[in-house]
Amino acid sequence: MEDLIKELKELEELVLQCMKCGTCQAHCPLYQKDLNESAVARGKISLIESVYEGRLDKAGSILKHLDYCILCGRCKENCPSGVKTDEIFLRAKAVLRKIEKLPSWGKVVLKIVMEKPDLLARVAPLMHIGLKFGAKRVKDDIFKPLLGSFSKRNIKQVASKPFTKTHGGLHKADNEKMKVYFYPGCAANFLFPEWGEAIISVLNHFGVTVYVPEINKCCGIPAATLGEIETYKKMVDENLNHINDIDCEYVITCCPTCQYALSEMGPKVTGIIANKPFFDILMFLDEVLGVNFEVKLNERYTTHIPCHYRSTKKERLKSHVAKNIKGENITLENQSCCGFGGTFNMKKYDDSKAVGMSKAFEVKSKGIEKLFTPCPGCAMQLTDAIVESGSNAKVEHPIVYYAREIVKSGISKDKTEKGQ
Ligand code: SF4
Ligand code: SF4
Repeated sequence: MEDLIKELKELEELVLQCMKCGTCQAHCPLYQKDLNESAVARGKISLIESVYEGRLDKAGSILKHLDYCILCGRCKENCPSGVKTDEIFLRAKAVLRKIEKLPSWGKVVLKIVMEKPDLLARVAPLMHIGLKFGAKRVKDDIFKPLLGSFSKRNIKQVASKPFTKTHGGLHKADNEKMKVYFYPGCAANFLFPEWGEAIISVLNHFGVTVYVPEINKCCGIPAATLGEIETYKKMVDENLNHINDIDCEYVITCCPTCQYALSEMGPKVTGIIANKPFFDILMFLDEVLGVNFEVKLNERYTTHIPCHYRSTKKERLKSHVAKNIKGENITLENQSCCGFGGTFNMKKYDDSKAVGMSKAFEVKSKGIEKLFTPCPGCAMQLTDAIVESGSNAKVEHPIVYYAREIVKSGISKDKTEKGQ
């Protein structure tokens, strides 16, 4: 126990940066929902302090409060003292996990998702049926938390074949001007293969050759959020080594959480740095290719930008979509998190859904017919909440719309700001 307290105390330098101002309260979606201090960054940081200062005996008891977090990063983004809340929470959870062992269901999920990508690819098409079936029948205390919520979800059917099985390899563009590595991540691989197909087709259209790995290895973030930091390090290590071995100029992602896990938090925990920059697909079109589509949409739409993009990127992404999709573009008053948070959504489905519902009700009340989002987690969460709210709005990645319009209207390959 003493060793663990010592390990927690190693966080003191980061923890002391918190001046307990409480600014994070206004930005934390869970504090806004519950008005409970242990939900917000300041409260969680105080709990960590009280353990290593010896004011709280049962160190393991604070894990549930650290776990009650979407890891949306809004506290970090808005903290006037620049407190690295994400790093503090992840490292503290890794220490406390040594006392409060991961429940069996978590270990089973992690083992399959992280270490057996081939097995996962084989069983994925049956997952939907299995989860729905299991959710109704399994009474076991271990599996209930995971399966229980599936009976209430509006979830997308898992693809019959994962994206990397059907599209792994090199997709050469005519008149190639550059080559990129596309990292699909688990969600696009199993649930949104059409996002990956759209990315290949749009990039090829603009002369970019796309390499897709033949096996998708999880970015490791689910392990990190469960406090299994060694598994996270292993996944970051394997992914970055593979990325670094491939001859290309950029890494393209369609999941901000995967990007955060591999290019922001990953290097901090492993010391390995990618030898090429990471770009979200829309940011790549906007910043690197300077592409303009200016396509029409005869529907009332809005755009939800995921939390894991910093504020400057959020604004740039929003204006990119507004500039390129011409239609009735509505800005929601609710600009908060969707509430997904990956494993948070599995463990605390009702709390997670409650955060998403407030956004879904606004979508419904404003008669919005389409919600664009460049994040598969947000897409899953908001689809679930929107269906539940009774709205008929459809959720889509802008890239899917661009790809469809390119085929339909034959958008010129030269229609770029930089004239490339
Ligand atoms: S985490 Fe930042 S915003 Fe929150 S109380 Fe500490 S210093 Fe203030
Ligand atoms: S990461 Fe998000 S949910 Fe967690 S404490 Fe910070 S603002 Fe709240």
